Amino acid sequence: MDRRTLILGLGSIAAGFRSSSHAQSLPSQVTTWVVWKEIPTIVILSTEDDFRTRGVREAVDFWNAEFARLGSPFRFGAIVRSFRSISAGDLVALKARGLSPSIVNSMREANGDVIVVLSDDAGFNPFAFPSPALRKVLVAIPSLRKYPFWPAAARSIAAHELGHAVGLDHNDDNGFAPLTSADKAKLLEMYPPNWQSNPSRRWKADPPAGAIG
Ligand SMILES: [Zn+2]
Repeated sequence: MDRRTLILGLGSIAAGFRSSSHAQSLPSQVTTWVVWKEIPTIVILSTEDDFRTRGVREAVDFWNAEFARLGSPFRFGAIVRSFRSISAGDLVALKARGLSPSIVNSMREANGDVIVVLSDDAGFNPFAFPSPALRKVLVAIPSLRKYPFWPAAARSIAAHELGHAVGLDHNDDNGFAPLTSADKAKLLEMYPPNWQSNPSRRWKADPPAGAIG
């Protein structure tokens, strides 16, 4: 079974999380997702050798392949690791009550636009939280060890939450895997074929050859 088949096959795991989590925490709120004007970098906050890191990387590959297939130049950018952490208490509070000064500080200090927190706590459902003001999105993934097939579940859940991180909302129950025609249309509306990354940011992420040394 290849990666894509696995992601498709396990879409129901993310969908199950979604219906239980988002419906509870955001009853009538309209979430304003971030539409990127530059290639967003990703920082993974985790302990060393966390198996979910691979799932996040594969989810990023999944999305970048989808954007390529759609003819959009948008991609997720570089992935870096950080051993900083955000406590489960702060994550739960973020989901329930929104941004607090301590979370704002943590998001500002995190060295990436999409901040993926791999928590050791199993007491919350995965979620994505956008801050259009900070121009960052936080993705929180709980401990998954209670689930069978947890490495694949990590990939599937990360793929779903990264769908929110690029601006998708739930159209139906498929969890972006596979993408519906409405999802694809929305992605192309946000990141059309003539989309260009803000040049200053592109230089930072991808310096031209010869710039160093
Ligand atoms: Zn969702």
